[in-house]
Amino acid sequence: MKSPLAPPTRLLLGPGPSPIDPSVLDALSKPVLGHLDPEFITIMNETSERLRTVFRTRNPLTFPVSGTGSAGMETALDNLLEPGDRIVIGVNGVFGGRMADAAARAGAEVTTVEADWGDIIDPEELGKAVRSVKPRVVALVHAETSTGARSPVDLVRREIGPGPLLVVDSVTGLGGIPLEVDKWGIDVCFSGTQKCLSVPPGLAPITFSPRAAQAVADRKTPVQSWYLDVSMLRKYWEEGEGARAYHHTAPISMVYGLWEGLRLVLEEGLEERWARHQEVGEFAQQELTGMGFKLYARRGYRLPQLTSIRLPKGVNDNLRARLLTDFDIEIGGGLGAGAGKVWRIGLMGFGAKKENVIRLVQALRAII
Ligand code: PLP
Repeated sequence: MKSPLAPPTRLLLGPGPSPIDPSVLDALSKPVLGHLDPEFITIMNETSERLRTVFRTRNPLTFPVSGTGSAGMETALDNLLEPGDRIVIGVNGVFGGRMADAAARAGAEVTTVEADWGDIIDPEELGKAVRSVKPRVVALVHAETSTGARSPVDLVRREIGPGPLLVVDSVTGLGGIPLEVDKWGIDVCFSGTQKCLSVPPGLAPITFSPRAAQAVADRKTPVQSWYLDVSMLRKYWEEGEGARAYHHTAPISMVYGLWEGLRLVLEEGLEERWARHQEVGEFAQQELTGMGFKLYARRGYRLPQLTSIRLPKGVNDNLRARLLTDFDIEIGGGLGAGAGKVWRIGLMGFGAKKENVIRLVQALRAII
């Protein structure tokens, strides 16, 4: 028989997953409860309540979808869109493009508002598209992990007006940079556990405003996906009469991990955590530009938790493999238009520390 599993310990400074706090790893190893055990239901309720705090919302319908960030994206789009509905989507990187693909698969008529990679979607352009298309839904990515650009989501509702439902992908934003679901007028926001929350990949926190929940309840056609149909999922996750009806078996250990990850966020303080990401990200950007790298994302809209750098001539993408094998450090390569041209450095959650920046810079100096 082979010996027990023993993967190497890497320093995860890529676009996710991020390093996991030891107390989250402990939580993952706690005894598994039945998914309708009253003790587990208490843990579910506390997890949802903590998610409300971190999303900055009072939305009752707030829970983790069983699946990665992409499951959150499909839960948002598949539930809000019926065949023939119009949607306007901002595309300035891979993940906006994915939303356009998923919305088209849900049968929607998709209009995209595009911007160069590394740039931002201009909220005024979204507003113009909304006035011409009159969509039911507008969607954009808060933190574009493929480029390192932050969308000014706070300005979007004013430009698109009160009508359309606003969907925001904050897979890489939640817990790392300011996000105000209620104040910014976001109707559905989804995220992932493996970025700034520093929990392994596997759950997709999501929140639906009462108006979005009503839009799902008022659908004329059933949601195409059985697994992600929120009208059924809410009976499992929401408190109240008729609640906790069996839908699927929650990934118990992952919920423990998220519960603990959120406890750590609240113990640190959400705003303190945003400030830590900002400080460490700026430090990394200074150090990297000091080494001669150019930053890829537009100035003023650079994510602190995900820095993308252009590869200068003479620096080959293959060097990333040496970082991994010789220094146990993972960073990310470029995606889509950035493939082979950029590197992506994540300083997220438990990994957002100056000492990690120093370790990376020293390793880069050694290999370049
Ligand atoms: N949206 C964004 C902005 C992402 O960065 C990612 C993953 O990196 C996703 C969606 C998809 O999430 P997942 O890979 O967890 O399915």
